Amino acid sequence: MKYPKLRELKEAVKALIKGPYTTKFPYQPHKPFERFRGRPYFHEKDCMGCTACAQVCPPGAIDYTDEIKNGKGKRKLTVHWDICIFCGQCEANCPTGKGIILSQEFDFATTQKREDLKQEIEKDLMLCDGCQEAIVPYDQYLWVAQRLGPLCFSNPSLILI
Ligand code: SF4
Ligand code: SF4
Repeated sequence: MKYPKLRELKEAVKALIKGPYTTKFPYQPHKPFERFRGRPYFHEKDCMGCTACAQVCPPGAIDYTDEIKNGKGKRKLTVHWDICIFCGQCEANCPTGKGIILSQEFDFATTQKREDLKQEIEKDLMLCDGCQEAIVPYDQYLWVAQRLGPLCFSNPSLILI
Protein backbone atom coordinates (compact mmCIF):
# COMPACT_ATOMS: atom_id res chain seq x y z
CA MET A 1 0.00 0.00 0.00
CA LYS A 2 1.26 3.47 -0.90
CA TYR A 3 1.12 6.07 1.88
CA PRO A 4 0.34 9.74 1.08
CA LYS A 5 3.29 12.09 1.16
CA LEU A 6 3.61 14.53 4.07
CA ARG A 7 3.10 17.51 1.75
CA GLU A 8 -0.23 16.11 0.54
CA LEU A 9 -1.32 15.38 4.11
CA LYS A 10 -0.49 18.96 5.09
CA GLU A 11 -2.58 20.31 2.20
CA ALA A 12 -5.48 18.04 3.15
CA VAL A 13 -5.44 19.23 6.76
CA LYS A 14 -5.22 22.86 5.61
CA ALA A 15 -8.19 22.39 3.26
CA LEU A 16 -10.21 20.84 6.10
CA ILE A 17 -9.64 23.89 8.30
CA LYS A 18 -9.68 26.71 5.73
CA GLY A 19 -12.21 25.22 3.30
CA PRO A 20 -11.61 24.30 -0.35
CA TYR A 21 -9.34 26.33 -2.67
CA THR A 22 -11.89 26.14 -5.50
CA THR A 23 -14.78 28.60 -5.81
CA LYS A 24 -18.38 27.98 -6.75
CA PHE A 25 -18.16 29.90 -10.05
CA PRO A 26 -20.36 30.12 -12.16
CA TYR A 27 -23.01 29.62 -9.46
CA GLN A 28 -21.42 32.37 -7.41
CA PRO A 29 -19.24 35.30 -8.58
CA HIS A 30 -15.50 34.69 -8.48
CA LYS A 31 -12.97 37.36 -7.54
CA PRO A 32 -9.55 36.57 -9.02
CA PHE A 33 -6.30 37.18 -7.14
CA GLU A 34 -4.95 40.73 -7.16
CA ARG A 35 -2.30 40.20 -9.87
CA PHE A 36 -4.52 38.07 -12.13
CA ARG A 37 -4.09 38.99 -15.81
CA GLY A 38 -7.43 39.21 -17.60
CA ARG A 39 -8.94 40.99 -20.58
CA PRO A 40 -6.84 44.01 -21.66
CA TYR A 41 -8.61 47.33 -22.25
CA PHE A 42 -7.38 50.44 -24.02
CA HIS A 43 -7.79 53.57 -21.90
CA GLU A 44 -8.39 56.10 -24.64
CA LYS A 45 -7.45 59.16 -22.61
CA ASP A 46 -4.04 57.73 -21.64
CA CYS A 47 -3.25 56.06 -24.98
CA MET A 48 -1.36 58.19 -27.48
CA GLY A 49 -1.65 55.75 -30.39
CA CYS A 50 2.08 54.99 -30.70
CA THR A 51 1.50 51.26 -31.54
CA ALA A 52 4.30 50.01 -29.24
CA CYS A 53 1.80 47.55 -27.73
CA ALA A 54 1.01 46.13 -31.18
CA GLN A 55 4.70 45.61 -31.85
CA VAL A 56 5.40 43.66 -28.66
CA CYS A 57 2.22 41.56 -28.59
CA PRO A 58 3.44 37.95 -29.12
CA PRO A 59 0.32 36.50 -30.82
CA GLY A 60 -0.50 39.67 -32.78
CA ALA A 61 -3.69 40.37 -30.84
CA ILE A 62 -3.33 44.14 -31.31
CA ASP A 63 -3.46 45.69 -34.77
CA TYR A 64 -3.85 49.14 -36.23
CA THR A 65 -4.80 50.81 -39.49
CA ASP A 66 -4.21 54.36 -40.69
CA GLU A 67 -6.92 55.89 -42.84
CA ILE A 68 -6.51 59.19 -44.67
CA LYS A 69 -9.57 60.81 -46.24
CA ASN A 70 -10.27 64.40 -47.32
CA GLY A 71 -7.11 65.73 -45.71
CA LYS A 72 -7.86 64.09 -42.33
CA GLY A 73 -6.19 61.04 -40.84
CA LYS A 74 -7.39 58.50 -38.28
CA ARG A 75 -5.49 55.65 -36.65
CA LYS A 76 -7.69 52.80 -35.49
CA LEU A 77 -6.22 50.50 -32.84
CA THR A 78 -7.90 47.19 -32.09
CA VAL A 79 -7.27 44.63 -29.37
CA HIS A 80 -8.68 41.19 -30.25
CA TRP A 81 -9.59 39.37 -27.07
CA ASP A 82 -10.06 36.05 -28.89
CA ILE A 83 -6.36 36.04 -29.84
CA CYS A 84 -4.92 37.56 -26.63
CA ILE A 85 -2.90 35.20 -24.41
CA PHE A 86 -2.95 37.59 -21.39
CA CYS A 87 0.81 37.83 -21.15
CA GLY A 88 0.75 41.50 -20.09
CA GLN A 89 3.49 42.61 -22.52
CA CYS A 90 1.31 45.40 -23.93
CA GLU A 91 0.78 46.94 -20.49
CA ALA A 92 4.42 46.46 -19.48
CA ASN A 93 5.74 48.16 -22.64
CA CYS A 94 3.23 51.00 -22.99
CA PRO A 95 5.27 54.25 -22.79
CA THR A 96 2.49 56.08 -20.92
CA GLY A 97 2.08 53.09 -18.58
CA LYS A 98 -1.72 53.51 -18.68
CA GLY A 99 -2.72 53.29 -22.35
CA ILE A 100 -3.69 49.62 -22.14
CA ILE A 101 -4.32 47.84 -18.86
CA LEU A 102 -5.19 44.22 -18.14
CA SER A 103 -8.39 43.92 -16.16
CA GLN A 104 -9.42 41.04 -13.91
CA GLU A 105 -12.11 39.89 -16.35
CA PHE A 106 -11.75 36.20 -17.17
CA ASP A 107 -15.21 35.04 -18.20
CA PHE A 108 -15.38 35.29 -21.99
CA ALA A 109 -18.41 33.05 -22.50
CA THR A 110 -20.51 34.76 -25.16
CA THR A 111 -23.03 34.16 -27.90
CA GLN A 112 -21.27 36.76 -30.09
CA LYS A 113 -19.02 35.81 -33.00
CA ARG A 114 -15.38 35.57 -31.95
CA GLU A 115 -14.49 38.45 -34.33
CA ASP A 116 -16.71 40.69 -32.22
CA LEU A 117 -14.58 40.06 -29.13
CA LYS A 118 -12.55 43.22 -29.47
CA GLN A 119 -12.17 46.85 -28.44
CA GLU A 120 -11.42 49.63 -30.90
CA ILE A 121 -10.20 53.16 -30.30
CA GLU A 122 -9.33 55.96 -32.72
CA LYS A 123 -6.65 58.63 -32.69
CA ASP A 124 -6.39 61.71 -34.92
CA LEU A 125 -3.32 61.58 -37.13
CA MET A 126 -1.02 64.46 -37.94
CA LEU A 127 -0.47 64.61 -41.72
CA CYS A 128 2.43 66.02 -43.67
CA ASP A 129 1.38 69.30 -45.33
CA GLY A 130 3.43 68.44 -48.39
CA CYS A 131 2.65 64.79 -49.21
CA GLN A 132 -0.42 64.22 -46.96
CA GLU A 133 1.19 61.07 -45.49
CA ALA A 134 0.67 60.21 -41.82
CA ILE A 135 3.39 61.36 -39.39
CA VAL A 136 2.19 60.38 -35.89
CA PRO A 137 -1.00 60.82 -33.87
CA TYR A 138 -1.41 64.31 -32.35
CA ASP A 139 -1.53 62.79 -28.89
CA GLN A 140 1.88 61.17 -29.40
CA TYR A 141 3.39 64.46 -30.52
CA LEU A 142 1.98 66.26 -27.50
CA TRP A 143 3.19 63.49 -25.17
CA VAL A 144 6.73 63.90 -26.50
CA ALA A 145 6.50 67.69 -26.15
CA GLN A 146 5.35 67.38 -22.54
CA ARG A 147 8.17 64.96 -21.75
CA LEU A 148 10.73 67.30 -23.26
CA GLY A 149 9.36 70.33 -21.42
CA PRO A 150 11.25 73.53 -22.27
CA LEU A 151 13.65 71.48 -24.42
CA CYS A 152 10.92 71.13 -27.04
CA PHE A 153 11.50 74.81 -27.93
CA SER A 154 14.81 73.76 -29.45
CA ASN A 155 12.91 71.72 -32.05
CA PRO A 156 11.32 73.80 -34.87
CA SER A 157 8.72 71.11 -35.68
CA LEU A 158 7.51 70.99 -32.09
CA ILE A 159 7.38 74.80 -31.94
CA LEU A 160 5.08 74.76 -34.99
CA ILE A 161 2.77 72.30 -33.21
S1 SF4 B 1 0.17 54.52 -25.78
FE1 SF4 B 1 0.28 52.44 -24.95
S2 SF4 B 1 -1.72 51.55 -25.40
FE2 SF4 B 1 -1.53 53.36 -26.67
S3 SF4 B 1 -0.74 52.59 -28.62
FE3 SF4 B 1 1.06 53.23 -27.38
S4 SF4 B 1 1.68 51.35 -26.31
FE4 SF4 B 1 -0.40 50.99 -27.10
S1 SF4 C 1 -1.84 40.70 -22.97
FE1 SF4 C 1 -0.22 39.89 -24.34
S2 SF4 C 1 -1.38 38.84 -25.93
FE2 SF4 C 1 -2.87 40.12 -24.89
S3 SF4 C 1 -2.93 42.00 -26.08
FE3 SF4 C 1 -1.42 42.30 -24.44
S4 SF4 C 1 0.56 41.73 -25.37
FE4 SF4 C 1 -1.06 40.90 -26.68
